[in-house]
Amino acid sequence: MRKVAFYGKGGIGKSTTQQNTAAAMAHFYDQKVFIHGCDPKADSTRLILGGKPQETLMDVLREEGAEKVTKDKVIKRGFHNIQCVESGGPEPGVGCAGRGVITAIDLMETNGAYTDDLDFVFFDVLGDVVCGGFAMPIRDGKAQEVYIVASGEMMAIYAANNICRGLLKYAKQSGVRLGGIICNSRKVDKEKEFLEEFTASIGTQMIHFVPRDNIVQRAEFNKKTVVEYDVEENQAKEYGELARKIIENKNFIIPKPLTMDQLEKMVVKYGIED
Ligand code: ADP
Ligand code: MG
Repeated sequence: MRKVAFYGKGGIGKSTTQQNTAAAMAHFYDQKVFIHGCDPKADSTRLILGGKPQETLMDVLREEGAEKVTKDKVIKRGFHNIQCVESGGPEPGVGCAGRGVITAIDLMETNGAYTDDLDFVFFDVLGDVVCGGFAMPIRDGKAQEVYIVASGEMMAIYAANNICRGLLKYAKQSGVRLGGIICNSRKVDKEKEFLEEFTASIGTQMIHFVPRDNIVQRAEFNKKTVVEYDVEENQAKEYGELARKIIENKNFIIPKPLTMDQLEKMVVKYGIED
């Protein structure tokens, strides 16, 4: 079983890319996948589950108590039997959402939810927050492998570099490694070149360039991944390629984040403004 976390700037496409990759892994490569959503928005699994409204793990915990948080109660199965859990979060303005992530993963472990027959467990972690509870999957060795979703936009690369700083900090104690950067294209100028130079300079690879395509929104509107909505679409093949590259990946490193100075020089070179 490989435990994988996706990080990246908010809105960059983590949940979309993760669900489409999971769907492609299951559909094209017969992989058994579990998605654990760690975002209080609880939107990490809706494309796999067809938008079914979900009771989150924290809802059950709050309303019925820890003994009611069982596998049967909180795990839902969707496309190709992909298993899904949403951690959820505290009531808005009350309590610490990061703490909720820790509680949710601990409870799933106690319940033996991440079973040995699984090929992949994915943690979909909120935004680019690498502190407190949101860093937990990488800090405590819950995830061994991280992929950062980024684009050629300055703020996405800035966030990716920050996440690398978090990884560098925790890599020794937890054993977590960076498996690559996924470019989720925003169609900005020289995007591929910029990201390729950035990834090489921190010591990793751009594992795949995922094009921007409106079919993603159309599928999303129908509460589906592209793989389920129309597997003949080119975008479904792209997610298939990303799935294959992750399955076959052997390139795991501790990143060397850039200094602000180095990062700014690179930005100037590519002439990109945010
Ligand atoms: P995050 O989880 O990082 O906050 P989301 O996965 O929710 O981001 O993505 C934000 C929006 O971007 C979604 O509504 C999705 O439709 C869109 N999106 C993501 N990737 C693509 C893509 N490759 N092509 C077109 N739209 C995309
Ligand atoms: Mg998300």
